Amino acid sequence: MHIHSKLPNAGTTIFTVMSTLATEHNAVNLGQGFPDYTMSEELIGHVTEAMKNGFNQYVPMQGYMPLREVLAEKIKYLYQTAVNPATQVTITPGGTYAIYTALTTVLQPGDEVIIFEPAYDSYIPNAEVNGAVPILVELKFPVYKIDWAEVRKKISPKTKMIMLNSPHNPTGAVLLEEDMNELRSIVKGTNIFICSDEVYEHLIFDDIPHQSILRYPDLLERSFVCFSFGKVYHCTGWKLGYCISSPELMKEFRKVHQFNCFSCHTPSQVGLSKFLKNKESYLSLPLFMQQKRDYFLKLMKETKFGMLESKGSYFICATYDRISNEPDKDFSIRITKEYGVTTIPVSVFYRSGTDNKVVRFCFAKRNETLEAAVEKLVTIR
Ligand code: PMP
Ligand code: GLN
Repeated sequence: MHIHSKLPNAGTTIFTVMSTLATEHNAVNLGQGFPDYTMSEELIGHVTEAMKNGFNQYVPMQGYMPLREVLAEKIKYLYQTAVNPATQVTITPGGTYAIYTALTTVLQPGDEVIIFEPAYDSYIPNAEVNGAVPILVELKFPVYKIDWAEVRKKISPKTKMIMLNSPHNPTGAVLLEEDMNELRSIVKGTNIFICSDEVYEHLIFDDIPHQSILRYPDLLERSFVCFSFGKVYHCTGWKLGYCISSPELMKEFRKVHQFNCFSCHTPSQVGLSKFLKNKESYLSLPLFMQQKRDYFLKLMKETKFGMLESKGSYFICATYDRISNEPDKDFSIRITKEYGVTTIPVSVFYRSGTDNKVVRFCFAKRNETLEAAVEKLVTIR
């Protein structure tokens, strides 16, 4: 049989490659982004109770209504924007799926999508599988800020969408109010959609306010804003998330969604709807994760890595030019094998493989795990 590949450039995702290598070599895995500490007992309790109480059948394809309602309340409280839970919120099996569905909802063959690099690894394939063309804009190392003048130059009559991600994976950079104002002025009066990946909402540090699209009704009307319960509530294996959009766009999003997964895991939705009633469930998150970043940074001072800034997410990047000038992939593989610590090479987040000799560490780990990793990293000289 001959199959004409829809994604000829795609291999196996780096997260699976590096996690497999970590397991093979019994390495401390600071590569793939997942916590190794326990999630909330309270949330586990709510989900267990939901199953025992018979919440084990399909919910409507839009998601369990009380969960959508509590999300709308949270959005109103955090961003002062009214969102209708009936028409603007859809529960999805994870953030990745929400992003894929958003792109599939609007992209037609030949459309252009502005994607900032380094980019989370699903964005380019998601555009291409829909026949769209990624237009790449580089976030300049080492600060990784958006150059809006370059964005303006790359906008064309074919531009259909701009992909955003803040807090940013892999760099931990965050968008500021000035970025949002640039974006507003660029898209005003155009037919450009926005897909905003905000899966690291709440995981933002140093009291910086998260610049969600949800703060800006003029942007929300053209946006799909994607979130992940797994990422923020320390249960990445749940693969549950949601998308917020305007009623008009959400109507089309749901047409794609209903014939893909239809509806998502019911007990988790029921459990989350109770858990999120307590604002502490999310208000406690920025400091919790900031302490992890700070602890990891403190430990890493003893190593020869050059730590870059991380303002949010699970991640912090580091240069290793004081250790070696190997390509970052070789370096990541070698330190997994020889030193027992796994990282992610940042060049994989660039289509052209731009290698600034930077690796990404995930600090969403128990203190003991971070200590065990750094104990090995200090020996790399
Ligand atoms: N976007 C980014 C930037 C991510 O890092 C992740 C992490 N997996 C996702 C989307 C997907 O989230 P989920 O696991 O809920 O699909
Ligand atoms: N988002 C996670 C990361 O960047 C991984 C999720 C995945 O494996 N797809 O490490």
